[in-house]
Amino acid sequence: MSLQNYIDRINVINENIHKFSQNPKKIKLIGVTKTFSVEKIKTAINAGVKIIGENKVQDALAKFKEESFPGIERHYIGKLQSNKVNKVLDNFHFIHSLDREKIVKKIDNSKSQIKCLIEVNTSGEKSKGGVDPEKLENFILELHKYKNIQIVGLMTISPLTENKNEIRKSFKQLKGLLEVNKKNETDNIHFNELSMGMTNDYTIALQEGATMIRIGRGIFGSRK
Ligand SMILES: *Cc1c(COP(=O)(O)O)cnc(C)c1O
Repeated sequence: MSLQNYIDRINVINENIHKFSQNPKKIKLIGVTKTFSVEKIKTAINAGVKIIGENKVQDALAKFKEESFPGIERHYIGKLQSNKVNKVLDNFHFIHSLDREKIVKKIDNSKSQIKCLIEVNTSGEKSKGGVDPEKLENFILELHKYKNIQIVGLMTISPLTENKNEIRKSFKQLKGLLEVNKKNETDNIHFNELSMGMTNDYTIALQEGATMIRIGRGIFGSRK
């Protein structure tokens, strides 16, 4: 794919951000670079991508070793294993997948100022991570004892379905949970960011209040 292809695809996404979001200026577009080569990532950055998302620590570190992507914000969107947390803290600016107190404790102890989002399992699918929506408020109250970790919002992955109503329901639920938990904010726990929407469903997510959309194939084309 040529630079112009990337520019065209990013333009389409930016047009949709203006069409579907109530607050287009607030939207952060995360180019999900998992499985794509450093060469492709560099082209996407030349085309305007400013934030990249990776979901595997090992793969991401191999790429960052080859190219440091100066000035580009790095978001970790994959499962968090406790033995790899320190590597994530050292190499990323955001984590989207916080869902266990054990990991919270580790991050808090490290005094890292990395920005974290709590993942919520709005689909109920066992293959997906995330806190059960029913248990979210208690989870957040449990986190009140941690005074260092920086929590900025919530993230979800929509259910694996073609049914747009089901997908919309999952995004509406996440937005509702964000609003409900504003009362549970502390000095270091805030609920401003909503990370939701991928290539197939980001226009719905934008309508439902997403502030971060995570797009891979919509920028890079299909994965092999
Ligand atoms: C792969 C992935 C994406 C991007 O998916 P696309 O369908 O390629 O846009 C977004 N979020 C997470 C958590 C992912 O793993």
